[in-house]
Amino acid sequence: MKALQDKIIKDGKVLSAEVLKVDSFLNHQIDPELMQQIGQEFADLYKDAGLTKIVTIESSGIAPAVMAGLILGIPVVFARKRKSVTLTDNFYSAEVYSFTKQVSSDISVSKDFLNKDDVVLIIDDFLANGEAAKGLLSIVEQAGATTSGIGIVIEKGFQPGGQALRDQGHRVDSLAIISSLENGKVQFA
Ligand code: 5GP
Repeated sequence: MKALQDKIIKDGKVLSAEVLKVDSFLNHQIDPELMQQIGQEFADLYKDAGLTKIVTIESSGIAPAVMAGLILGIPVVFARKRKSVTLTDNFYSAEVYSFTKQVSSDISVSKDFLNKDDVVLIIDDFLANGEAAKGLLSIVEQAGATTSGIGIVIEKGFQPGGQALRDQGHRVDSLAIISSLENGKVQFA
């Protein structure tokens, strides 16, 4: 997606050969216009998939997911990273190892918002080792629902998550795929 690539080049900061910081438009401050374009892109890709729900993970997946949900006219459910007192034992959960925080944590989704009749698009901001996507896939599976695909805003193609998910037969649609962050430079696949 050209507008996203341009934005990454203009405002992204390469923190290391592995980490890209995009907190001026996606991870902290949010660019609503770009999010709307991203949502439209996901909506176009999945308009015939018979989706009933989008599932994402807090917090950075929410903005692109809501935009896609708005255009497709379906609800957006986000997995919570912290246990809420209002989430009693009525939830699906999975353990996710965080690439950026380097700790494992449980994510959970209430059983009220996902069931076996749902057809789901999973959306997340980044794809690195695929841990977050794996956790979300597990939650959809626990609900007996169907995952139609995985929509990613920025995939780091030099890390193994995307390949592993595709090898498992999942449909993965990434709007920007970075092939390298070496020498402080962003290169696209
Ligand atoms: P994975 O679970 O695929 O290993 O990593 C994806 C998750 O880690 C995303 O939800 C995102 O929050 C975070 N992440 C991974 N790599 C990056 C990165 O280069 N930059 C930022 N800002 N977040 C990342």
